[in-house]
Amino acid sequence: MKYDAVVIGCGPAGMMASSLLSHEGRKVLIVDRSDRLGGRACWHEYRGCTLDYGMHLLITSDASAIGQVSDKLGIHVEWCQIPGLRVYTDSGWRDMMELAPMDDPDFARIAEEMMLTPEEELSKYDDLSIEDWIRERTRKDSIRDFLRGMAMVVTTLPDTNDMAASEVVFSTGRVLKTGKFAGVPAGGYKNLWDAFYRYLNSKGTDVRLDTTVSQIVIEDQEVRGIMVDKNHYGDFYMAKYNLAEQEFIEAPVVVYTGFIWDLFRIAAQDKFPEFFRKMVNGFKGNTTSAVGWAILAMREPATDSLCHHAVYKLKRTGLPLQFLPITNIDPSIAPDGRHLFIGGCPCELDTSDRTLMEEKTAAAKQDLAELFPGIWDSVEWAIKGTFTGIDGIARRPRCVGIFRPDVKAPFMEGLYFAGDTVRGRGVGMDFAARSGVRCAEKILGKKFGIE
Ligand SMILES: Cc1cc2nc3c(=O)[nH]c(=O)nc-3n(C[C@H](O)[C@H](O)[C@H](O)COP(=O)(O)OP(=O)(O)OC[C@H]3O[C@@H](n4cnc5c(N)ncnc54)[C@H](O)[C@@H]3O)c2cc1C
Repeated sequence: MKYDAVVIGCGPAGMMASSLLSHEGRKVLIVDRSDRLGGRACWHEYRGCTLDYGMHLLITSDASAIGQVSDKLGIHVEWCQIPGLRVYTDSGWRDMMELAPMDDPDFARIAEEMMLTPEEELSKYDDLSIEDWIRERTRKDSIRDFLRGMAMVVTTLPDTNDMAASEVVFSTGRVLKTGKFAGVPAGGYKNLWDAFYRYLNSKGTDVRLDTTVSQIVIEDQEVRGIMVDKNHYGDFYMAKYNLAEQEFIEAPVVVYTGFIWDLFRIAAQDKFPEFFRKMVNGFKGNTTSAVGWAILAMREPATDSLCHHAVYKLKRTGLPLQFLPITNIDPSIAPDGRHLFIGGCPCELDTSDRTLMEEKTAAAKQDLAELFPGIWDSVEWAIKGTFTGIDGIARRPRCVGIFRPDVKAPFMEGLYFAGDTVRGRGVGMDFAARSGVRCAEKILGKKFGIE
């Protein structure tokens, strides 16, 4: 079988790129080694609940890149809006907008700059921290505290000196401009990806799950297609390395959306220029993680609020906390009378250190009891754990924008990249999706007007 384009990965980047390519009449194949759509933004069923993998808030909700693409393609998605953010202060939980110094002319000036700086101009802040960016504009604590809070939530990094100004300006600017904080698809991500799947089907696009790409076939600096593993047999020690057969799929264009540092597992390093190899290898492992209580299933809600909740630094764990009372926003994902709280503590710790992770989780239990008195009396079951690869490459100065690989591979015909480990702007899924759009635009040589 021959395709116009093969897209590797059914995460947000691959789903956007393949949908736009299919929309333009290209014959597309999209593959993933996983058994379901969504990549890291997938879902699972547990005790009658439809759970997202980790916590997945889509910044600006239907105004995000995913929302704009679904509107453009006529894909119907219902969004549950998360109206805002509550932060824990010395005087308890406060609405973030109450803390915003709205009447301060300096704040108005800074907010306007964040909203109006065009995407193409943001690269001038790619090597600057948001702390320095703010300091150049104001010394007022009220403004700095507000912007620091937003920056922690949008980057999941704990220290503002570590956050790239360009990324915080872009995402905070989008929130201020659209007046939308975040949202989740009604019924969970299963519904979102099913809607995209139906669209791809209607366009004659082939979707192959449980399919691992073992090689991107390149000859004379031109992409020829991919090799996929076929027919693993058995589930014994290292069985996955015993390949019975492989299949060649021909395509002049391949879009790779896995972690960029895994590219060289399936594409020969020596085909790429030295600068690119160094750039890609340098990003390996530079990602953020989370630890703690991923899901609490409760008999009573811990709060009536519809907002996302954040704490800059928990007393006992010493880490930030993000928590969302998701069933207050979308009760359909749990059986009647069950209330789900999802979240965790963003961190940059060694998540393979089980002892340290258990210590942090135990400390987070006590921290949660203080933040939401009586919470544990109402918990019926809970899932604790660690997660990594939360935000592709951690968005530090010099790790974003122009410091990342472009969506077109250098010195290579037909190879493209998309996802949250290459060039793009935004938070997590929004970033990945926008990068998928920019990748499709580059392949097609046209713009879709997606902001
Ligand atoms: C716990 C957790 C919480 C998160 N919370 C949020 C949040 O609240 N908000 C937010 O915006 N983002 C969040 N994120 C980040 C978000 O999930 C990612 O930014 C987004 O999924 C990246 O999309 P992507 O398409 O770039 O990559 P992915 O989603 O990783 O998709 C890439 C896909 O490529 C496939 N693949 C790779 N190599 C191969 C191969 N050789 N053969 C076949 N298939 C291959 C992989 O199986 C994968 O499915 C979170 C992530 C995690 C882990």
